[in-house]
Amino acid sequence: MKRLDGKVAIITGGASGIGAAGVRLFSENGAKVIIADIQDDLGQKLADQIGPNVDYIHCDVSKEEDIINLINSAVQKYGKLDIMYNNAGIIDGIFTSILDTEKSDLEKLLSVNLIGPILGAKHAAKVMIPQKKGCILFTASACVNIAGLGTHSYAATKHGVSGLTRNLAAELGEYGLRVNCVSPYAVVDTGISKGVAEVEEEAAVEGRRLIGEVSNLKGKVLKADDVARAALFLANDDEAGYISGVNLVIDGGFSVVNPTMMNAYAQFLA
Ligand code: NAD
Repeated sequence: MKRLDGKVAIITGGASGIGAAGVRLFSENGAKVIIADIQDDLGQKLADQIGPNVDYIHCDVSKEEDIINLINSAVQKYGKLDIMYNNAGIIDGIFTSILDTEKSDLEKLLSVNLIGPILGAKHAAKVMIPQKKGCILFTASACVNIAGLGTHSYAATKHGVSGLTRNLAAELGEYGLRVNCVSPYAVVDTGISKGVAEVEEEAAVEGRRLIGEVSNLKGKVLKADDVARAALFLANDDEAGYISGVNLVIDGGFSVVNPTMMNAYAQFLA
């Protein structure tokens, strides 16, 4: 028996990175998966590669009509929706001072990273409430758990996602629905940095090196598959059936360690 046998899942941002890893893993585990993205060629190619249990639908998560079409298509094809994984997201830079924060960038980030997940949850809940079961997932970020990991706009949207997770869990528990999010450490090597015009490949590589250097869990690099496996765990009723309202942080302990203290101990012991 596979872990998601017979389940129907939508993964937004499923054409690339963490979402694409989730598409592969959920489908290997028996789910019918719908990739929702704006990168049509990439999303369709991935669906074709995996096979008939995976479909691609163009969906800009910031547009309510696209979300409605997405959810309706899933329900028309399969008669139900078990898992809504709101994962699509963008960044507006790596370290942007509040002084340089542009309102237009902020609005774009809010529309994709926060309004998108709210709309995704709204329309998934319309289907899941009458079913009296279902699982809503989000990808937030480790910047929710420790400050300074992302730009102010990005951090604000991801704090919104984590707050939304808890608030939705409070409303939807009544109907047997579970709501959780995963929060990866930076920087999983995905397409996200390519969306930032000012991030040259060299700078992105250097950024990843530095983030690796300050990580807590040594000898490992966080991969998209690690995040997808955490999402799979939360999606699976047999394993996570009583887990709701949780932000599962995937940061190798980064956000719970105070490096100043650790350095002081190291000096003391030396
Ligand atoms: P990615 O760029 O590889 O994937 C994001 C996907 O979202 C892309 O396929 C993109 O086309 C899609 N997307 C962007 N705007 C969209 C829109 N309006 N509608 C639908 N789809 C849209 O990056 P990723 O790292 O896999 O990002 C996935 C999630 O993980 C994001 O929410 C991101 O904020 C979060 N995250 C990433 C990291 C990291 O280090 N990569 C760390 C913490 C959190």
